[in-house]
Amino acid sequence: MTKVLIATDKPFAAEAVNGIRNVIENAGFELVLLEKYTEKKQLLDAVANADAAIIRSDIFDKEVLDAAKSMKIVVRAGAGYDNVDLDAATANNICVMNTPGQNANAVAELALGMAVYAVRNFYNGTSGTELFGKKLGIHAYGNVGRNVARIAKGFGMEVYAFDPFLSAEAIEKEGVKAVASAEELYSTCQFVSLHIPATAETKNSINYALLSKMPKKALLINTARKEVINEAEIVKLMEERTDFKYVTDIMPANHAEMAEKFAGRYFSTPKKMGAQTAEANTNAGIAAANQIVDFIKNGNERFRVNKK
Ligand code: NAD
Repeated sequence: MTKVLIATDKPFAAEAVNGIRNVIENAGFELVLLEKYTEKKQLLDAVANADAAIIRSDIFDKEVLDAAKSMKIVVRAGAGYDNVDLDAATANNICVMNTPGQNANAVAELALGMAVYAVRNFYNGTSGTELFGKKLGIHAYGNVGRNVARIAKGFGMEVYAFDPFLSAEAIEKEGVKAVASAEELYSTCQFVSLHIPATAETKNSINYALLSKMPKKALLINTARKEVINEAEIVKLMEERTDFKYVTDIMPANHAEMAEKFAGRYFSTPKKMGAQTAEANTNAGIAAANQIVDFIKNGNERFRVNKK
């Protein structure tokens, strides 16, 4: 019988495991659980006779993948998959997938929640401002960006987006104004929510030149990655512009300096928590299970991330 292993050092919630079990057993497969393992040997033993695996941040390096003699597919329940050695997976003829989009609503809700928190002066008891009627720029219109747009429209915001990989038509059909450049987005919008991936091109790209284009009482919301921010330059900008606020879900390397210099204008979550909801956790696990069933039964490789 096809054996599907859940290998999670940090386990899924019980509800997610039950949902995964339903999908796997309804497909006629067997579910095997390895949770809170303390030694790599336990993982090496567990993968040895599994046909498929669902993992979270668990490290699937060459040694683990080489030991997985009958493994056909590994699905990372979540978006990032840098914990899996993709080349070793390809060499072992193992398909690796992620589950994009499953945590997008959770991240989007946090982005708008942090925006409310910031415009209400971090709930310090003083009078703040509202989101209604303000311009929000969405920098990258992917899974999270789209959910931010949906929620922001509910707040009555005017929503703009910049995404060079999408046509203006694709963005505008969702009632969002497409702009042609990041510069245009930042100079148009008092609020900007960041949703770009960290790539060679985007690293350090949110810099002084770009941020200084933002209108008065600007707010930058970052639920993307800290690497995309030029940390030294945001300090310089916030020193010069006392109307500029920054809220982030990815604690910068210079957090202590930011917190001290910009008290009342800067906030970071203590630990990345955008995707930390029961729903996102369950959604990603169940999506992983469905992708495994569809791959084994129908050969569907839609969310494959490694080369064949
Ligand atoms: P996604 O892949 O669905 O969307 C990314 C979008 O970025 C795509 O539409 C792509 O066209 C666009 N893009 C790529 N390069 C760009 C560029 N140079 N300029 C503008 N747009 C560009 O990803 P997603 O699920 O929406 O995630 C977005 C970001 O959020 C990622 O950085 C991800 O790491 C981060 N994230 C954070 C959390 C959290 O817990 N805070 C959770 C999930 C994802």
